[in-house]
Amino acid sequence: MINYTQHIERVCIDICQKVPQFKHIDPTRIAYSAAYSRKNARFRRIAVMVGCKPKPGSLADQLGIKAQRLKTPSKKIASYMMRIYFPWFFKESFEQKIDTLIHELWHIGVKFDGALRENGSHYDGFQDDVDSLIDDYLGNAPNWDLLDWFDKKIDRDDVWGWRYPIPKATNLDKILGEEYIHRKRYVECSLVKINL
Ligand SMILES: [Zn+2]
Repeated sequence: MINYTQHIERVCIDICQKVPQFKHIDPTRIAYSAAYSRKNARFRRIAVMVGCKPKPGSLADQLGIKAQRLKTPSKKIASYMMRIYFPWFFKESFEQKIDTLIHELWHIGVKFDGALRENGSHYDGFQDDVDSLIDDYLGNAPNWDLLDWFDKKIDRDDVWGWRYPIPKATNLDKILGEEYIHRKRYVECSLVKINL
């Protein structure tokens, strides 16, 4: 069995090394998390990027809310969490898988401080920027030994993955009272890509 979240971390490390526009990203400080999307789900979730910090200027930010700290298996504090959904990610073509990972990495804010990009999740021209980053990556000697795995047919029994809880607010109780924390939790982003 292959740890697919670890494999995706290795690919993201390779992407960040080969694409200059990702030089602000430390891919070892992203928690890669396995997730499962039910067959009868309304959306076929493929991947989601979650920031471990409220969006600047948002209500949560104004209230001084901090998100729970996540530690990666190598004991680093994660600034982001990337959830990759089984089985839909594995049903994508080779090109779509690369597109998905670069798309998610492009959501990361330029300061790499746990916030997502400020100019909206999918601004006009977002996909054009992603396409150009894909060209940069594939044209800059990517690690094909890693990428070859993306061409294989994967069944559920072939893979396992690390899992993390969605980062939630840690100091909400101090600000809004004990009761609030049980009713609401902070999530930066719930769905960033659906298969159309
Ligand atoms: Zn997106």
